[in-house]
Amino acid sequence: MAVVPVMRNQIGSHLINPSTQQLQFWSQALNGKIKFWSNVTYTQCRSRFSQPKLSPQQVNTILRCNESHVDLSPSGSIKCFDVNQLPSNNPTEDRRAEARCVHTTGMLFGVFDGHGGWPCAEMICRRLFNYIAASLLPLDILEQVANRKDGDPLQLVQWYNKPYAGNFSRELGHLSDTSFNRYLGQLLKNTKPNSEFNMQDNLVKVFQQLDRDFWDEVEAAELSSSTSLLNEMLTIAMSGAVACVAHLDGVHLHIANTGDCRAVLGTLSESNTWVAKPLTKLHGFENPEEVRRLLGEHPANESSTIIKQERLFGQLSPLRAFGDFRFKWPVSMQKRLLVPLYGHNILPPNYYTPPYLTAKPEVTHHRLLPRDKFLVLATDGLWEQVPPSRVVQMVGEYMSGRQTLEPFRLPPAGKRHKGLVLGEINEILKQRQEGLHHKPIDANAATHLLRNALGGTEYGIDHTMLSQMLSVPEDVVRLVRDDITIVIVFFDKDYLRHRN
Ligand code: MG
Repeated sequence: MAVVPVMRNQIGSHLINPSTQQLQFWSQALNGKIKFWSNVTYTQCRSRFSQPKLSPQQVNTILRCNESHVDLSPSGSIKCFDVNQLPSNNPTEDRRAEARCVHTTGMLFGVFDGHGGWPCAEMICRRLFNYIAASLLPLDILEQVANRKDGDPLQLVQWYNKPYAGNFSRELGHLSDTSFNRYLGQLLKNTKPNSEFNMQDNLVKVFQQLDRDFWDEVEAAELSSSTSLLNEMLTIAMSGAVACVAHLDGVHLHIANTGDCRAVLGTLSESNTWVAKPLTKLHGFENPEEVRRLLGEHPANESSTIIKQERLFGQLSPLRAFGDFRFKWPVSMQKRLLVPLYGHNILPPNYYTPPYLTAKPEVTHHRLLPRDKFLVLATDGLWEQVPPSRVVQMVGEYMSGRQTLEPFRLPPAGKRHKGLVLGEINEILKQRQEGLHHKPIDANAATHLLRNALGGTEYGIDHTMLSQMLSVPEDVVRLVRDDITIVIVFFDKDYLRHRN
């Protein structure tokens, strides 16, 4: 959901209503991405935002406390990746995950943006990669995994970060394990030797399966005698999450996206300018295709009630998401499970032909080329501050500035390639000369992006603006910026040069 970037646009311009001297903000209600207007007078706003400035060291500490860097070279098409996260909600509703598939050669990266709380985002973050990794197993390994004895360890992915922040109960963990074992059994049953495999269809099925398993787990919790388990499941079911996942295997990049996160590829053109290639489409009301899809799935006489104030039933911003079962379950199930807890108003008005929401992702495939340099995955908190073209420009400038900090070395000629020709060396030297103007303050590219997204101006970083953006009081910070999660994957140019 768009948040008006007050500090960037300078308070007092077009945001002020001249007759009332009031500022208007988009904001977020507690129970989802729900819009409402919040009116604050100019004087009130100035006093709320006029916090003492942070020192440069304090700014650095805030910007860098969640950053991390992983070097993978030499390891196929990925050289390294940088990640960072800046919370706005407390606790943050964003999650991220990076992992290597243990039994296959792919890598997985994901950003997950929760709404109505963090539980659904965390549930997806913990489980989705295992579902994907299982779906990619060769038949012989799938047989071993699906038929393993009770208690035998199961590791399908190796995590590069610990994706768990909140706590779920042991009972809930047991339900999840039962679902996953059932999923492994289904995979084994449906996988035939030498059967054709389509990665795009596969990722669609995996996303939908996990969401369906979650639905089934709520029903299993209802049948159990544990009220606490049912309440825990319903809390998660009332929240939702959008997800953007990249699977990289050699030169093959697949992106599966549900909701309003984005994946953008940074490519260096023939004329050495940075080009942003979007690999995702937004699943919101700004996308007419998506609105047509939604309305086409329901009777024509519902078209005026499904969409209200550019929200699903006037309430939910993304048109695809995990969880959010009050837009998916039949009325009977909502009356049985949700109405006793949340009252009759929990049922959206004119709710006749569910499901109105889906976790089905759109999947894109891109074959990496030598001019593809990096991939940025990020939650909408970043894209509300800067557009994709500017993000790619910032990371591109970081790359050219960064390489000037390291001594120039020719890549060694060897079995993999014959070395560079003079023209290529000349091009690299020219890029290094240009990069001298862009020496980054931050070693981490995701932090560089955060700093520039929040404090960048055409004249460089504005420290005052940046320190204000980072010191907004907790009770109003969500009016200014959303949780921001960034994953930047850098490709190995030598690998791509010799695979194309
Ligand atoms: Mg967000």
